[in-house]
Amino acid sequence: MGPPGVGKGTQAKKLKLYFDIFHLSTGKVLREEINKKTEIGLKSSLFIDKGELVPDHILLRIVKKHISKKAYLNGYVLDGFPRTLPQAEGFDKILNDSDQKLNAVVSLNADKDELINRLLLRSKDSGRSDDNFDIIKNRQKIYWEQTSPLLEYYRSKQILKEINGVGEISEITNLIIQSIKN
Ligand code: ADP
Repeated sequence: MGPPGVGKGTQAKKLKLYFDIFHLSTGKVLREEINKKTEIGLKSSLFIDKGELVPDHILLRIVKKHISKKAYLNGYVLDGFPRTLPQAEGFDKILNDSDQKLNAVVSLNADKDELINRLLLRSKDSGRSDDNFDIIKNRQKIYWEQTSPLLEYYRSKQILKEINGVGEISEITNLIIQSIKN
């Protein structure tokens, strides 16, 4: 978890390699659906283009479909999900129904200005419809309003690992790996 631009995708890819597990980025899945012009894609683009969250039932359906694949049984890292309380609660139910357990939730953080600068840099070659200044601002606002309450949800379950997202990429990866192993 963490605000847009904090490095969730970058670090999730490192964890995938280190632990040899699957990496599911809900943002990436949604962008693929948009490119393929599927019904989910068409619906989602209405929200993504404004920097808003895609409705919970769509995300829960996507996550359920992926994690019930046999290949995911060895473990996986989710990136960009859950982002709301109903998603976290729905995910708990999916986990319970499929006899799986959430081991750790990593929260990355960074200063707001640093995040905006990173995203504006990324926008130069990301080709993403939601990487422009006003939309970035809205995505950040939504993170603080709708997603950050989840920190308390996972803190109370004692699985939250809070990591500083500013520094060398490899150092941050090491901190995350250590926190997961502890
Ligand atoms: P970032 O973390 O930089 O915002 P993502 O690729 O994770 O990038 O997400 C891009 C957009 O996709 C989000 O702004 C949102 O509109 C949509 N999205 C991704 N995951 C979710 C989710 N779990 N719930 C609702 N919307 C989502």
